[in-house]
Amino acid sequence: LSSKLPWVGTTIFTVMSKLATDTGALNLSQGFPGFDCSPELVALVDQYMKTGFNQYAPMTGVPALREALARKTEQLYGVSYHPETEVTVTSGATEALFAAITAVIRPGDEAIVFEPAYDSYVPAIELNGGVPVYVTLKPPTYGVDWEEVRSKITDKTRLIVVNTPQNPIGRVWTAEDLAQLAALVHHRDIWIVSDEVYEHIRFDGRPHHSLATHPVLQERTFVCGSFGKTFHVTGWKIGYCLAPKELSVEFRKIHQYLTFSTITPVQYALADYLKNPEHYETLPAFYERKRDLFLDCLRGSRFQFQPTEGSFFQTVSYQAITDEPDYDLAIRLTKEIGVASIPVSVFYRQKNDYNILRFCFAKDDDVLREAGERLCRL
Ligand code: PMP
Ligand code: GLN
Repeated sequence: LSSKLPWVGTTIFTVMSKLATDTGALNLSQGFPGFDCSPELVALVDQYMKTGFNQYAPMTGVPALREALARKTEQLYGVSYHPETEVTVTSGATEALFAAITAVIRPGDEAIVFEPAYDSYVPAIELNGGVPVYVTLKPPTYGVDWEEVRSKITDKTRLIVVNTPQNPIGRVWTAEDLAQLAALVHHRDIWIVSDEVYEHIRFDGRPHHSLATHPVLQERTFVCGSFGKTFHVTGWKIGYCLAPKELSVEFRKIHQYLTFSTITPVQYALADYLKNPEHYETLPAFYERKRDLFLDCLRGSRFQFQPTEGSFFQTVSYQAITDEPDYDLAIRLTKEIGVASIPVSVFYRQKNDYNILRFCFAKDDDVLREAGERLCRL
């Protein structure tokens, strides 16, 4: 069989997590919480499973969950999405991203991607015959050069993929970024897929500027979210897409043939759990403390870093320690000191020598302390 994705191997997350398991290393590589979710949420799922909520959910998601999502979005961002026609529950943000990209991209269309980019965007673009056009964000600030973005827009550009807070670099888009983007796409046939799975994980009082909050952007954006990050349940693979009606119509045509619908009892449980805003409002403080703890542990090391703005990832530069390629170093550190990380070069298509590793700090405090101690020995 000739490969449709010849340049793709097994994802780095699978590679590094497996190596961490095989070697018994502390796993700060793949992004998932090292602690359990709330027992209250588990009890709700249990209750729905035991009371007969075990058959197919409606294709678009159970009404109670769509309504809860619409209410939360209205309260947080002051934007109304109609729960019946503009909110769709998906099997993880990954499915939402794939369906949204598929809804937009036809063979030959160009899609602008800011790299370092989360790894699922480009394969989705290419499987639809699209051509990724890269705008490279460079350390240490990873700011967007809007002139560069402007210069890369052609009459074939149909899509721009945004990710805020951005995995792996933790950058949070500003109101100015939204204004710049809006000026570029206004009156053009360009759609936006905005990956906002870390919307509730941002630090130092920074607000999350959802693309839904900007009218010019909102009307052309598929906002993709995930409960995995927000409620510490990455293994449940449940997410959603918010998009204006005409966009949601096309999105749902694809969603219904990708997965059709998503696990029923979990949807009912999440609908109940979302009613208490404390369940997501406490997240910034919860993760900011973990970020600060991890950084305090790293202060005695030779790594260089800027505190991450959002997401549960911290990137660090290791230029003062070694000039090994980051992939080799990530493997070596897993084997030799028992700390697994992700080499950031894998999120760039172009080869580079930025020498950056990504650590996930969604871990128990003692794991973060132990990892910090080991990393300080380098
Ligand atoms: N987007 C980003 C930026 C992510 O980091 C992740 C994964 N953790 C996803 C999407 C996928 O989310 P899900 O697990 O809900 O499919
Ligand atoms: N989003 C997670 C990360 O960045 C991994 C998800 C996955 O393993 N596909 O680490």
